[in-house]
Amino acid sequence: MMKGSIPEDKIDEVKSRINIVDLVAGYVNLKQAGRNFIGLCPFHQEKTPSFTVNPEKQIFYCFGCGEGGNAITFVMKQNNLSFPEAVRYLAGKTGVVLPSRTLSDREKGRLTLREQMLRLHGLAAAYFTDRLEGGEGLTARRYLEQRGIGNGIVREFRLGYALPGWNHLRDYLVRKKIPLPLAEQAGLLARNERGDYYDRFRGRLIFPIEDQSGQIIAFGGRIIGEGTPKYLNSPESVLFSKGKNLYGLSRARDEIRKSGHVILVEGYFDLLALWNAGIGNVVATLGTALTREHVELLRRYTRQAAIVFDADEAGNKALARSLSLFVEGGLHMRAVMLPDGADPDDFVGKSGREKFLALVEGAPPAVEYYLDNFIGDVKSLESGRDALREAMAFIAKMENEAERNLFIKRVAQRIGLDEDVLKAELNRGRSKRTTTTGKESGGKTTAVPVPDALEVTFIALILDHPEKIPAMMSLDALRYFQNDELRKLGEEAAASYERQGRIDLGKFVDRLAQRSLREEILGRVVDSVSWDGETLDRVCRDTVRQIKRKWFKEKRRSLNMLLVRAQQAMDTESCQRLLAEKAELVKYEQSMLLQG
Ligand SMILES: [Zn+2]
Repeated sequence: MMKGSIPEDKIDEVKSRINIVDLVAGYVNLKQAGRNFIGLCPFHQEKTPSFTVNPEKQIFYCFGCGEGGNAITFVMKQNNLSFPEAVRYLAGKTGVVLPSRTLSDREKGRLTLREQMLRLHGLAAAYFTDRLEGGEGLTARRYLEQRGIGNGIVREFRLGYALPGWNHLRDYLVRKKIPLPLAEQAGLLARNERGDYYDRFRGRLIFPIEDQSGQIIAFGGRIIGEGTPKYLNSPESVLFSKGKNLYGLSRARDEIRKSGHVILVEGYFDLLALWNAGIGNVVATLGTALTREHVELLRRYTRQAAIVFDADEAGNKALARSLSLFVEGGLHMRAVMLPDGADPDDFVGKSGREKFLALVEGAPPAVEYYLDNFIGDVKSLESGRDALREAMAFIAKMENEAERNLFIKRVAQRIGLDEDVLKAELNRGRSKRTTTTGKESGGKTTAVPVPDALEVTFIALILDHPEKIPAMMSLDALRYFQNDELRKLGEEAAASYERQGRIDLGKFVDRLAQRSLREEILGRVVDSVSWDGETLDRVCRDTVRQIKRKWFKEKRRSLNMLLVRAQQAMDTESCQRLLAEKAELVKYEQSMLLQG
């Protein structure tokens, strides 16, 4: 994580002075419940509290939406700040003086720049709105009328109009005493070779782009009449990143919560047309492929998404990519295909709201669509190697076991393969590391391994009870881990404990890239049972023993499978080598089990 230029010890000082309960209480009404405090989650809509703050460990976790972390994470999420900004904010609150050099001019500038830019965007939006409403906006108003967009929508979305011509906005900003370089940075003005500023948006219908809280952070412009490009967006800035923002989200939030799902479309007009038809749980990507950040953003409001795609090849590719992001993010996705390649704007205009909603309602889970289109005509394992390999990578990402098994079953049916054979193939891919490199770790696998419950327990245990780290490490469990990320985290936690005699729980959990892992571990730690010393020791020992057992079991199974293959291929040499390896393994296992 980017730490900016704030020294680590200052960050620690800030953390040690802040009490997460007091901090959160400033935003959430907290009630004590046992060792924890609970309240209504600020990150998702709920009626019964599942937002939990643990004062002892100085972490928070929501059992409803899975948001969690330490005081810094909380401030980042709540106030939409970067890491250094959050630290500075907390430093101010706790009276920790950060060395002045840590607040570089660049950073200081960035903070005020944000505020100035927000003000500028508000000003420009009002200017564009006035142009649309005035006499000079007639063409633009006619255009909207022609596309069936009513006045209510125009006002709701603060649509505007940028006049044709090179310096209307520029002259206005000069009159308002706005520094033109600022407007250039915001992407409202550009500069020619002579160094003169001119309007970036000309002769365009203007769509203000808002962040989740409704502040305008960028603009999109649709050309009216002839001209290219058809759509033009503000460039990326300190306020705006198209991979992290979704058009319409601030307006759609409530409807998404109410309806329980979100509809994803591509363009401004698709979204407006659906609003026009009374469908409000819609957001649009801003002319970019869906990103992991988009999925995270949506996840705050719902777990159900319906995505409208073009049924062409590009659409199929986009679908496969989005689907894998959704699967990873633990969101359920349906694929809405409109007939004859229509876009939502056309379709809802011609066929109406009910027909559109019926299509969304009846849309197949994207996974089904994926099966139909990507391995639909595969007839055998051989002919479908590539499709199968892709499907495997996909399956490996699925974290919900029931869903995964169902998918395996469906793939097996589809290609007429025995389910167990397919599972074995999948396991082979997953345990490649352990079969080829023995008890040594290393060897990258590309598929995302499914987190093992025992390994998660182990990590939760050492983060929760760092004083047990020396004992747990002496049992040498980490080298039997299947999950690289968890193993690395375990190693780092142990190293940190050895160095400092403590570990920073929130920081370690934050490092986990896989969201479901983060949630799982935070959930366990925030609400852990307090054991007496003896029980804790037993739980630790049992966990390690079971991790080892599982490792040996997997290893035996994969060796057996390789043996069968070698026998079938009448490869005597491999057979002998594998048999020797197996004997070695059995001996090793027995010696391990004797040790406990
Ligand atoms: Zn929540």
